[in-house]
Amino acid sequence: HKINIAIDGPAGAGKSTVARMVASALQYIYVDTGAMYRAVTLKALESGFSTEDNELVGRLAHEMDIVLLPGSDTQRVIVDDEDVTSRLRSLEINRNVSYVARLEGVRKRMAELQRRMAQQKGVVMDGRDIGTHVLPDAELKIFLTATPRERATRRFLELGPDADITLDQLEAEIARRDQLDQEREIAPLLQAPDARLIDSTGRTVDEVAEEIVQWGLAATRT
Ligand code: C5P
Repeated sequence: HKINIAIDGPAGAGKSTVARMVASALQYIYVDTGAMYRAVTLKALESGFSTEDNELVGRLAHEMDIVLLPGSDTQRVIVDDEDVTSRLRSLEINRNVSYVARLEGVRKRMAELQRRMAQQKGVVMDGRDIGTHVLPDAELKIFLTATPRERATRRFLELGPDADITLDQLEAEIARRDQLDQEREIAPLLQAPDARLIDSTGRTVDEVAEEIVQWGLAATRT
């Protein structure tokens, strides 16, 4: 039988790469919940809304149509019929997303959509609050982390040579985002008591993904 797998952890720990590999190995559907918060942030900024306005941005989150299309390479994100995938990972979104993610109206709507996607089981969902809040009954929960320096380095390489930011600046920004995610009132970034902790520092994504796949297969058999 199919199970649900929750992968939570701080920014840059390798969650999305690992989650995608696990989903592909098990023929499950990969759901990147960070992309959903990023999509709401994009819309809020485009609309000129304050990222701290729960009323306005919460309503926006309820009214916008977010479709995640699982792909072989990246998951495509379609908002109101427009493919916004390539616009979700900018520094501007990075800097604003954790404010939008604190808003009650936004979190409520995202959790609702995410639970709906996991209803049929067979989902690998990555985020911050999946094991603790969105899918507390997920059969396998992983908390994936790495040292701040390693996480910043990964994001730095991801941004490419044109990015107008130094590694030190990026590390500071990631630390700030983690702090906002950990300290927010609703569904903060937290390891679920029944989650398995994986420190990916110095390990390859293949190794980590394989470990999770084996646990997943074991959970499927029980
Ligand atoms: O995973 P990613 O770095 O794309 O997530 C972007 C931001 O979205 C996080 O820093 C966090 O503020 C928010 N987020 C969240 N809950 C999730 C996933 C992401 O609050 N389940």
